Amino acid sequence: MHELIIIGGGPAGLAAAAYAVRKRMDALFISRGLGGRVLRRLLLPWVEDYQVTVADDTIQRFRAQLDYLDFMRVRSTVTAIVPIEGGFRVTVADGKSYESKTIIFATGAVGELLNVPGEREFEMKGLCYSAMTYAPLMVDREVIVVGDEMLALRAVAELARIATHVTLVAETDGDLDTPVGKNVLSAENVEVVRHAKVLAVKGDEYARALMVRHADQVIEIPADAIFVEKQLIPNSALVADLVALDECGFVIVDHRNRTTMPGLFAAGDVTNALAFQVLMGLGDGEKAALSAFDYLLGMGGADFVCRIPK
Ligand SMILES: Cc1cc2nc3c(=O)[nH]c(=O)nc-3n(C[C@H](O)[C@H](O)[C@H](O)COP(=O)(O)OP(=O)(O)OC[C@H]3O[C@@H](n4cnc5c(N)ncnc54)[C@H](O)[C@@H]3O)c2cc1C
Repeated sequence: MHELIIIGGGPAGLAAAAYAVRKRMDALFISRGLGGRVLRRLLLPWVEDYQVTVADDTIQRFRAQLDYLDFMRVRSTVTAIVPIEGGFRVTVADGKSYESKTIIFATGAVGELLNVPGEREFEMKGLCYSAMTYAPLMVDREVIVVGDEMLALRAVAELARIATHVTLVAETDGDLDTPVGKNVLSAENVEVVRHAKVLAVKGDEYARALMVRHADQVIEIPADAIFVEKQLIPNSALVADLVALDECGFVIVDHRNRTTMPGLFAAGDVTNALAFQVLMGLGDGEKAALSAFDYLLGMGGADFVCRIPK
């Protein structure tokens, strides 16, 4: 039985694995791939490679630490996690199973897609799913945000400080009439197209416009970049029967990345903690690894107590 199995090869899983290696833990790292969502990068006609620091550069450092450790890496999809005496049994796609005393679950989340013509063609070519990441590149640009919940409102707020004009395309009223919504949408450079259905993404080499059905008309909204900010869907199905999830399906963790099941830790975008950025995922992964280490020492539920020097 291993001491630790880490599931997921994004920033959170990679950081947890690198930290576990440094601590000489007997860890097994299971993931479909290495790098996670960061592998996809937004291309924009006005941005050259040298002008941006890409998350992949950071991730590469962690990946490099694990590249030669083939003995501790399984490239596969986890299909089941079952609690057993003293730990967990983890089964992968080819039917093999592995046992461990602790688990770090770092399977990430996926953004809800538009599912319209042109989406696949222009994905990451002017059309993107992370305003939080790419907003700083929108100086003097006109952009579109698609969505009607808090995620979209936050994207609009962030972009409105940088871009010249932001059009929010919202299918329903969603969170638009909340105090946050009213506040965000009152900005002078923000326009809302409500009750609008996205029909297609259009462009040349890059996405250039969104085709939308609005008030029984089909309109074309031009933009320099389009951000799809619909609900994130956590990859938490594997642990849904084991740990507490929040109402959106994110794994609930405490300040030390402990789930409600002893020995099972979670990190990164799959959790209800504020993440959704590489640096946060990295920190989260390291924190989860330290918590797993403490758990193996028998410190299970206890926090370190602050002792006032005498
Ligand atoms: C298009 C896009 C671009 C982004 N660019 C940036 C950026 O430049 N900078 C930045 O800070 N943030 C960026 N972000 C946000 C950032 O990518 C995420 O916050 C971060 O990747 C989350 O890390 P994670 O490890 O929690 O999950 P993920 O990166 O999603 O990784 C999850 C991993 O788990 C694996 N996995 C899932 N299910 C299973 C399973 N059942 N079995 C085995 N493996 C499994 C996946 O294959 C993947 O390797 C971007 C997000 C998007 C959508």
